[in-house]
Amino acid sequence: MISIANLRKVYEDNGYEALKSIDLNIKEGDLVCLLGPSGCGKTTILNLLAGLLDPTSGDIKFDNVSVVNKHPKDRNIGLVFQNYALYPHMTVMENVMFPLTVGNKKTKKSKAKEIAQKYMKITNITELADKKPGNMSGGQQQRVAITRALVQNPKVLLLDEPLSNLDARLRLKIREEIRRLVKEIGITTIFVTHDQEEALSISDKIVIMDQGIVQQYDIPQNLYLEPANLFVAKFMGNPIINIFEMKKEEDYLKGSDFSIKLDKLDKTRVKDDFNKSKYIVGIRPEYFKLTTPSLFNAEIETVELIGKDRIVNFTINGEHSKAITDINDKVKENEIVGFDIEYDKIYIFEEDGRRVY
Ligand code: ATP
Repeated sequence: MISIANLRKVYEDNGYEALKSIDLNIKEGDLVCLLGPSGCGKTTILNLLAGLLDPTSGDIKFDNVSVVNKHPKDRNIGLVFQNYALYPHMTVMENVMFPLTVGNKKTKKSKAKEIAQKYMKITNITELADKKPGNMSGGQQQRVAITRALVQNPKVLLLDEPLSNLDARLRLKIREEIRRLVKEIGITTIFVTHDQEEALSISDKIVIMDQGIVQQYDIPQNLYLEPANLFVAKFMGNPIINIFEMKKEEDYLKGSDFSIKLDKLDKTRVKDDFNKSKYIVGIRPEYFKLTTPSLFNAEIETVELIGKDRIVNFTINGEHSKAITDINDKVKENEIVGFDIEYDKIYIFEEDGRRVY
């Protein structure tokens, strides 16, 4: 329903190429998160979709019709920002009705009130109708801002870090509400965030970006289980994936403490002939298993208890590494323990980040 093709954006004031060449197709009714580190271009994409910026080149289509030359008002979008931007002198009802009562598509006041009431019911803010924004919590103000974006029945809802100003507990609550709400209405929604947990919990699909390039566009579990490249593997997961630079020597990828035997790899997952001299091996902390006999022994440096998991820290192949073990594993600091890995759970990348296993 939204298709973005070869979209490029160079900011004219400093010549910075914020988006290199973006191609994306977003299905009608999907909730898609744009996720990535600060400065990767998330807000730039959102502003291009909204029409607040013009692309340097490329095209954006809503329902097969190009919108790049359309004024923001004519794109049929709802926009919600991190700062709620409510009118402080107006009540909640007046704020929500406002978009309906201005512009050339003015709705009669009584009708506008009826529409506002309908959406306020869906977003659970009916009792706030007579309050002014100054007397409300951040979560309530953000619900009002979302309701105001929805009253014009937009085709697309664009949300730019809408939960950043809320405390952790409220973020959890409102993000669930947003998912429920947009699914109930069936509106195509694009949500910008730099919080991977937030993106994983609410999205149908996630766009992972870095340096103005889409690194992977996929369903949440694939980003974790089947990362397209080293950037995605490192970005997704907490604690982050363990990374080891290893030298190719005969049939092994060699490290100072442990090596990977290439003929033990699952052949169906190999996308390369391993003819380079160096590779990067990624092993998620949950796939280091405490076992004997083991692939390597390591001295446990520290143990952290996080929720139901124990995270043990050790140094192997010259890298600070982490393993997640069961709460019942009685591993102690300064103890030497044996670890093994599951060959079908590791990832191997070329030096440029391309995944080959
Ligand atoms: P954040 O999470 O920090 O908001 P982002 O991923 O949304 O980051 P953008 O705001 O899209 O990133 O910015 C992408 C890049 O473009 C950044 O390096 C930023 O400094 C640059 N940039 C953004 N706006 C402008 C502008 N008006 N003029 C020049 N450069 C800009």
